[in-house]
Amino acid sequence: MRIETIAIQAGRDIDQQTGAVMPAIHLSTTFVRGNEGEFVYSRSDSPNRRALEQCLTQLEGGAAGVAFGSGMAAMASVFQALRHGDHVVLPDDTYFGVRELVTGLLADWGLQHTMVDMTDLAAVKAAMQPNTKLVWVETPSNPMLKVTDIAAVADIAHNGGAKLGVDGTWATPLLQHSLALGADIAAHSTTKYLGGHSDLTGGVVVVNEEDGFYERIRNVQQIGGAVPSGFDCWLLLRGIRTLPYRMRGHCANAMKVAQFLEDHPAVHTVHYPGLESHPGHEVARRQMDDFGGMLSVQVVGGGEKADAVASRTKIFARATSLGGVESLIEHRAPVEGPTTRTPMDLLRVSVGLEHPDDLIEDLAQALAGNR
Ligand SMILES: *Cc1c(COP(=O)(O)O)cnc(C)c1O
Repeated sequence: MRIETIAIQAGRDIDQQTGAVMPAIHLSTTFVRGNEGEFVYSRSDSPNRRALEQCLTQLEGGAAGVAFGSGMAAMASVFQALRHGDHVVLPDDTYFGVRELVTGLLADWGLQHTMVDMTDLAAVKAAMQPNTKLVWVETPSNPMLKVTDIAAVADIAHNGGAKLGVDGTWATPLLQHSLALGADIAAHSTTKYLGGHSDLTGGVVVVNEEDGFYERIRNVQQIGGAVPSGFDCWLLLRGIRTLPYRMRGHCANAMKVAQFLEDHPAVHTVHYPGLESHPGHEVARRQMDDFGGMLSVQVVGGGEKADAVASRTKIFARATSLGGVESLIEHRAPVEGPTTRTPMDLLRVSVGLEHPDDLIEDLAQALAGNR
């Protein structure tokens, strides 16, 4: 089956009792013994979550999927599945929540780490240690849109006896097939494009093998308990049904917006992997089916000028997060706090599904104020 068909059919059964074509929402926390699905208690497993996990597993082409109540809970489960004294290699520009988790919380529990520029394969190789159990990649990265060669890093990880995990949130399972490229674990914040409407938080880990490491991730879900509600699973599955068509719009609009910004005198750098000027363009062309709906832009004149642009947009809402149908703009560095590595003059843009000409006109008037 092609991915458009999977997005609509996976995890969807006709209800025999009612004939309902679309699934019911099960909010019950407990289930009588001896039921067909062997459900017991909703923290361990529930009908809507199982359907969602089936769909996400099929979208990624994996062996099993584990759903969580947020993207961070999903990413954290992978690191929590490691042991005291294990070492991980992660990107120096990884999502700031993952960086806080690994360098703060889990460092206190004895997890070791090295941060590298993942686009520098020699640096990745040099960072590998005998106790390295996981290499973590985020591509395209948040918010610098660096593109990492998944297949090349998978080789390095596997040669070192480590697993490769990929945070593919910005690409979605539609545009980038991390497991097929050699990753062992594909993780997503489903809060973003998979949900697609900025009305739920969620996350998922899909593995290529139901091995002992997978069992530990499943254990973190069931015992740790950061599980999504039945309603959130239902809502997310509903969002996924239109993912392939939404992504076409996001990609087409983002390319137009990126091209407009690249030529604008008030802008000095546009980070969008679809542009030939982007350092990761060639790798992105090889490993992605399209370039996504996210871009970052650095404006001339520094942080105050960037902030002023974000304050003047009328269609782009000034807000954090991404991947919804509505366009968002964010002055990123202040949000990430004092440890940020993000340039002060950078605006992160989530290009929505409004008409691209309206989006370009909005950015044009917001940038014009900077002259
Ligand atoms: C948003 C995001 C996360 C965290 O997901 P939440 O759902 O906010 O917990 C992790 N990685 C990337 C790349 C993200 O964009």
